[in-house]
Amino acid sequence: MLDIKIEFNSNPKKLPDKDDPLKFGTIFTDHMFIMDYTLGQGWHDARIIPYQPICLDPSAMVFHYGQEMFEGLKAYKTKDGRILLFRPDMNARRTNRTCKILCMPEIPEEDFVQAIMELVKIDKEWIPTKKGTSLYIRPFIIATDPFLGVRPSNMYKFIIILSPVGPYYPEGLDPVKIWIEDTYVRAVKGGIGEAKAGGNYAASLRAQVKAHEEGYSQVLWLDGVHRKYIEEVGAMNIFFKINGAVVTPMLNGSILPGITRDSVIRLCKDWGYEVQERLISIDEVYDAHQKGLLEEVFGTGTAAVISPVGHLRWGDHVMQINDGGIGKLSQKLYDNLTGIQLGDVPDIYDWTVEVK
Ligand SMILES: *Cc1c(COP(=O)(O)O)cnc(C)c1O
Repeated sequence: MLDIKIEFNSNPKKLPDKDDPLKFGTIFTDHMFIMDYTLGQGWHDARIIPYQPICLDPSAMVFHYGQEMFEGLKAYKTKDGRILLFRPDMNARRTNRTCKILCMPEIPEEDFVQAIMELVKIDKEWIPTKKGTSLYIRPFIIATDPFLGVRPSNMYKFIIILSPVGPYYPEGLDPVKIWIEDTYVRAVKGGIGEAKAGGNYAASLRAQVKAHEEGYSQVLWLDGVHRKYIEEVGAMNIFFKINGAVVTPMLNGSILPGITRDSVIRLCKDWGYEVQERLISIDEVYDAHQKGLLEEVFGTGTAAVISPVGHLRWGDHVMQINDGGIGKLSQKLYDNLTGIQLGDVPDIYDWTVEVK
């Protein structure tokens, strides 16, 4: 159990208007959680304080060598006013796996979840209630040692901030256009691709800019060695429905083990689908499309939950999926997952945790 000191914000902000469309990640609540780590002492001084800038030495290691990790999850308000988190234990576990990869100190899982719960409770008025909205939770750890040598930092800060967010697609599920990247790569096995680290995103930007210039919203990555096997999309894992089976790249060390991915696999299996976690090449996807067997493509991630893909571009080849519309399975997954998250569908998996 953390002993969390609380300093309330005496100058609270105005809550966003109920009809504010809440663009992703632009508004932040009145408080933040912060805790320090010092080598020899461990994590200490857990506190919730008014949301404010942090003061760091310009030589703090995070600025120079990018030792940083983050997480992302959401809190939802149910119709009867309860507050639910979705599988926060999975975020706690993934945090520690990321920390191991980046040589950062781990955080006891129960402390991680406790910190989130205490902060969400204090800022619970900020959880929006309109359909499709939620409170996005962003925990992250940065290396703060003031030192320009290269080694793991001896000092860190663990911080949690909260942001009310709207539905990813204001008009409901909207199929996206995706660019298959065959020049740049995001990560390779043996690198940090399976860590939720800012560094992976820094490495992704130039491909994303290129895709945007071509009129595509996101990049689908191929493996870093052969430029052949499917990896994942931007901040989402990817699924294909081919001739009735649900296929997704196996966790191979270079893709992020998504919690939405894990949940989707479980649901599909329980609904009787054959689910295959395996290598899947872009040639296989293209071939399935040519034969009319590529029935659905969708991304999975906390932000959008399910993101149907209507159009894939691979070099000169364009694949139109489901006539650019939403697939039946994509829709069913979205309805069930968001239903469980909002407490509207019975949570037979014990995935939700109430914040009391
Ligand atoms: C966070 C993330 C995902 C999705 O993970 P969820 O736990 O489902 O939100 C997928 N890919 C990358 C690169 C990510 O950072």
